[in-house]
Amino acid sequence: MLNNIAGKVIVITGASSGNGAAAARHLAECGATVVLAARRLDRISALEKELTDAGFKAKAVQTDVVDEAQVKELINTTVDSFGKIDVLINNAGIMPLAPLEQLKTNEWDQMIDVNLKGTLYGIAAALPQMQKQKSGHIINVSSVYGHKLGPDATVYCATKHAVRALSEGLRQEVKPYNIRTTIVSPGAVATELLDHISDEKIQSDTRAFVDQIAIPADSFARMVAFAINEPENVDVNEILFRPTAQP
Ligand code: NDP
Repeated sequence: MLNNIAGKVIVITGASSGNGAAAARHLAECGATVVLAARRLDRISALEKELTDAGFKAKAVQTDVVDEAQVKELINTTVDSFGKIDVLINNAGIMPLAPLEQLKTNEWDQMIDVNLKGTLYGIAAALPQMQKQKSGHIINVSSVYGHKLGPDATVYCATKHAVRALSEGLRQEVKPYNIRTTIVSPGAVATELLDHISDEKIQSDTRAFVDQIAIPADSFARMVAFAINEPENVDVNEILFRPTAQP
């Protein structure tokens, strides 16, 4: 069976929980070296140990994606340690839902910083190395909310629409360098994403809805693996998936 994952060096931001951690486990099991990036060093160190104890290849690099210098350092450390970067998964994200009229401008800033600027910093850090290699793959995580709008999710939707827009622009620009680009847009997946909603009612209402339909993060892991596993001359541009029960 084709395995275009084994031997690849794959950097995953937001690898300390949810979708990122599931992707790291699955890709490591498929034979990739996974570089685990997030702010919570205890979480990514524990995952590094879990994977290396099981005989897989993993390295934790504490990274805050809102800090451009730290993202650059993440990619530099990856290339210094493993000689290349084959795939960057810009997965770190937050979703503090609230209606605009609550004017939680601090949360707006955080979503723009993590979801949008964090993704851009990842691209800025990885692109020169991938151009030099004349190969690479940048996977940006958007959302069903990158395709539609939902109540209390205006700023989150704006960041996820923007992630899709910049990913398509990137796709068109990096063709001469043999770099693939993929947008992965999940629906409701059971992760820690709702934990950071500061409005208690919105959090409990969202949780009540999501808990009924959410699918495990393994689905996200398999979607990412599918895009990477395709042969190098196949560019899987976008994957949109959701629970069957999700509108
Ligand atoms: P989780 O909350 O479980 O994971 C979010 C990850 O992002 C954590 O690992 C967190 O790590 C990381 N993160 C947050 N802020 C930063 C930062 N400043 N620097 C580095 N890492 C950061 O949620 P999910 O797994 O669900 O989220 C992953 C992606 O999937 C997000 O982009 C989200 O928008 C997207 N998504 C999720 C859906 C869902 O239903 N779960 C649906 C659609 C899209 P740490 O706190 O340790 O830094």
